[in-house]
Amino acid sequence: MVNSNTSCIKCVDGINTCIYCCGKLLKNGISRAKKQRYKCKDCNKTIVENYTYNAYFSYINKQIVILLTEGLGIRSIARILKISVSTLLKRIIAISDRVNLPVMTPESSYEIDELCTFVKCKSKRIWIVYAFERETKNIVGFNVGPRTNLTLKKVVDKVLKANPQVLFTDRLKNYKSLIHQCIHKTVRFGTNNIERANLTLRTHLKRLNRKTICFSKSEIMFKAVLKIYFGSVA
Ligand SMILES: [Zn+2]
Repeated sequence: MVNSNTSCIKCVDGINTCIYCCGKLLKNGISRAKKQRYKCKDCNKTIVENYTYNAYFSYINKQIVILLTEGLGIRSIARILKISVSTLLKRIIAISDRVNLPVMTPESSYEIDELCTFVKCKSKRIWIVYAFERETKNIVGFNVGPRTNLTLKKVVDKVLKANPQVLFTDRLKNYKSLIHQCIHKTVRFGTNNIERANLTLRTHLKRLNRKTICFSKSEIMFKAVLKIYFGSVA
């Protein structure tokens, strides 16, 4: 994947400017790779015009998000972008910290469901509990953990804050104690939309592919990837 604009400096009227804020750049010593380093006068970011290591290019974070949500795993992304696996893992955590989940519409209809997968090894099962807004088709909240009230409660409480008209779930008993019965529905075909979203998730995220060894090796990475996915597909 080659980007035609690989320079990290923008030239406006013959003056080098910062690509982040268009501020004036001042020379700031020589980098370890013997390249001129610049510092932005306004945002204080340090920039080198042509980086030797691909991970420092400004477009790389966007490409990580694109490849991550297109069904590629960590190692394949690292190979394609020619960056190291450890850098990629750090970047994914950093990107996920900045991602926000879509805003919820008050008094809308929601569906909540659980999706089972593994973390660390095939004997350790873990569930993703997530809430799907029917109208906007956005995933507005999620949690990862064992299939217990504590894991479910975090998602249910978030949805309840938006004053939902109806909340559809499957017939899992745990929901009865968490959701008031006047808005809770467990009717047949009630969770059709979210069941379809489960399929999309399993196709788009490598670590949720069935019958492979691509499941997450750490819960932190698993949560980070999910947050990036839910935040970026909205
Ligand atoms: Zn700047």
